Amino acid sequence: MADRLRCEHGEWKTRDQFSKTQLEKYEQQARNGTATPARTGIRCKEHSAKQALELKCNGPCGRWRELRFFSKSTRRNGKNRRCDPDCLMLPI
Ligand SMILES: [Zn+2]
Ligand SMILES: [Zn+2]
Repeated sequence: MADRLRCEHGEWKTRDQFSKTQLEKYEQQARNGTATPARTGIRCKEHSAKQALELKCNGPCGRWRELRFFSKSTRRNGKNRRCDPDCLMLPI
């Protein structure tokens, strides 16, 4: 069993840096074959805490950015959420 897992934000962290709830979620998906250590779909404790303050841009930049970079309508857009103005300016 790998002792390091990759946080959804991209860093590799040891298991103790993930909450029990997140680890259980990961273990379950790993059993189903939908998650791997490199693609866990879970967040470390540090990033879970910041979750409410940042959103992932699903545009070309792919960055996690503060809420102020997303308009209200954009925030609800989920999959097509793009940061403003950087990614919104780019052609799809
Ligand atoms: Zn993290
Ligand atoms: Zn962006």
